[in-house]
Amino acid sequence: MVNVERIKKDIETMAEFTSTPGEGVTRLSFSDDDRKAREYIKEEMNKAGLKVYEDAAGTVFGRREGSKKRGKKAIPIMIGSHFDSVPHGGAFDGTAGVVAALEIARVLNEEGIVTEHPVEFVAFIEEEGSRFGSGLYGSRAIKGDVSVEQLKAAVDDKGISMYEAMKSFGLDSAKIGEAKREQGSIAAFIELHIEQGPILEHEGIDIGIVDSIVGISEYEVEIIGSPDHAGTTPMDLRHDALVEAADLIIYVNELAKTAGEGTVGTVGKIRVEPGAANVVPGRVTFTVDIRSGEQETMDEIWNKIREGIEALKEKGFDANYSNRLYVLPVKLDEDIKKFIEDGTQKLGYSYKRMASGAGHDAMVMASIAPTAMVFVPSKNGKSHCPEEWTDYEDLAKGIEVVFETLLSVDKK
Ligand SMILES: [Zn+2]
Repeated sequence: MVNVERIKKDIETMAEFTSTPGEGVTRLSFSDDDRKAREYIKEEMNKAGLKVYEDAAGTVFGRREGSKKRGKKAIPIMIGSHFDSVPHGGAFDGTAGVVAALEIARVLNEEGIVTEHPVEFVAFIEEEGSRFGSGLYGSRAIKGDVSVEQLKAAVDDKGISMYEAMKSFGLDSAKIGEAKREQGSIAAFIELHIEQGPILEHEGIDIGIVDSIVGISEYEVEIIGSPDHAGTTPMDLRHDALVEAADLIIYVNELAKTAGEGTVGTVGKIRVEPGAANVVPGRVTFTVDIRSGEQETMDEIWNKIREGIEALKEKGFDANYSNRLYVLPVKLDEDIKKFIEDGTQKLGYSYKRMASGAGHDAMVMASIAPTAMVFVPSKNGKSHCPEEWTDYEDLAKGIEVVFETLLSVDKK
């Protein structure tokens, strides 16, 4: 049985490895806090009888052998998440999934279960990219997407490159390529994570089964009108760029609201020029951030916004736009989702299928292995802040679900 006291101790202990005590968890990659946290994880893995090792990227693994030594069942199932944090973050983001991995290893032992597949419990770093701006690093290294050149180019705010930081940490950064695992060499990857949003708590649901991790399209829009005198220019002779921008901003909001599929649309940054109280706004630039589990939806929303921008030209405005970021949505594995659903029902917990609005290592792992994610509720939807919280009982439910899912995937 999943033990609530044990996971509480894990979470509380991990939270002590921070460079900002009393002000949330700040655990940057290849720091002293990383070292202490990783020592704790390894110690717990050792206690659970796992074979502990680190790959070339510095990701921590604990391996538990299975009964089958050849064929498809000799390929490992992977369970885990990341243990780095954002500055002044919470105790649960990432760590909850690492603790889930530790606890599942213990429960397998206690229940005397020998799986057919080997199971590798994994703890990634630099998922947040908080130190080097190199997010999803551990999983990208497994995919083979991190080069020595990238390690040299990624620097922290003290000017230390990731390449150097790894060396002083005791890793051979020149060998980063060795972290790569071939397509088909991992039977499944399952990540438990806190939701980081308010949906599960708001709807009183125990478990989120992640259908897809949303894609992101981000644009910058510029509308140029005429910066005229606010006193002498009559209303019908104005080309007020801000009024037109305001219409488009509301349009982004409306389109996202009606789209479904976990779609969200945000205008989070705007600049008005010349920016004086007595001048009609002559130029406005703003961002549009669209996220959805469906690429089609992302594109449809943008196309409608684009038409709105084009239409401004007929009204005497100049208007431009450019794409800043385009990331495709990632669909997670249907078979594993079904196993999660069955496991949740068996345990008597409520669940819903949902999109993940945030990126996770699972989105990278999905490109090399069948991958799934389980969400547990976040109190008040808060994350990336010291207030981040998940009740231990809720976390325990999520771990039980991942445990059941592991057994189903193993038997498949
Ligand atoms: Zn995370």
